[in-house]
Amino acid sequence: ESIANQIAAGEVVPAPAYIVKELLENSIDAGASEVQVEILGAGREAVQVTDNGKGMSPTDARMAFERHATSKLREIEDLDRLSTMGFRGEALAAIASVCQVELRTRIAELEVGTELRIEGARVKSSVPVACPVGTTLRAMNIFYNTPGRRKHIEARKESTELGDIWKEFAKVALANPEVSFALRGTGKYDKSLPASSLKERIIGIGGSKLSKALIPVNYESSFCSIRGFIGTPTTALKSGAQQYFFVNNRFIRHPYFHKAVMLAYEKFIPVGTQPHYFLYFTIPAENIDVNIHPQKTDVRFLDGETIFQVIVSLLREAFSSHAL
Ligand code: ADP
Ligand code: MG
Repeated sequence: ESIANQIAAGEVVPAPAYIVKELLENSIDAGASEVQVEILGAGREAVQVTDNGKGMSPTDARMAFERHATSKLREIEDLDRLSTMGFRGEALAAIASVCQVELRTRIAELEVGTELRIEGARVKSSVPVACPVGTTLRAMNIFYNTPGRRKHIEARKESTELGDIWKEFAKVALANPEVSFALRGTGKYDKSLPASSLKERIIGIGGSKLSKALIPVNYESSFCSIRGFIGTPTTALKSGAQQYFFVNNRFIRHPYFHKAVMLAYEKFIPVGTQPHYFLYFTIPAENIDVNIHPQKTDVRFLDGETIFQVIVSLLREAFSSHAL
């Protein structure tokens, strides 16, 4: 692959946690109801994700690693713009250019699946294989072909890497409570989460301490709906509060809406503490703009000021009815 490709992939694939995130999102996109993540060597040796989603035909499996025809990487000048644009359709290509990849996949229409091995972004072998419907993708030896980046990754603490992996796993698991997830090979972060209600999933990720700490919230209008749970004011923390916004089942960062939450809690929690919150927005795509960040975690809302006010009054109402 070209140097431009590798440079760009290096920017896009900063660490194993990114691979975990992208593979998990692909499993969800494929309609999986069960997803398992296995980590070896803090993700540097291997990240493997297995799902029971729709799988890929032999042709689709090969195509999955090619940059889309509209690739933003065709022109070297485009490299600058990449930092501000989305990377849709490029995750597997980027991963395959910095990892050795093994893929096993089968669609329900075929008796036999496909096993692909990819190295240096090239297909090294493609053979028929017996396997269940769904996909297992194993990304091994990240940055094996770029010694500088490999050293950089190895210099990080394994506990930092595993913490980052956990964060990505937690976001996807919280966004999809009806899907069962398992995380293995991470030591203290290992988890097995059956399909469940939202509340059970939040407790599964956030810990049993949350089971008596969650106040439900619900709001519905023609513009958007908001549901989820917020922490009781007494459970606010100086550090380590769990704070999540999701839009249409994807995690997002939203500093402005975070301010709305903080304003609602202002008189209820000690200065310098932070509340837990797990807030899920459902909003028609035409009311948001998701293409402003490469990892698609920043979303701009049309009419954000109105939603800001809605959040403040929704949360205040939730406290007062909870106190009754
Ligand atoms: P994107 O998800 O943005 O389309 P990716 O590079 O992540 O781009 O994936 C490329 C394509 O490979 C997907 O569009 C999908 O068709 C296929 N694919 C990837 N992972 C899976 C999976 N787990 N199950 C089924 N198809 C998959
Ligand atoms: Mg993807």
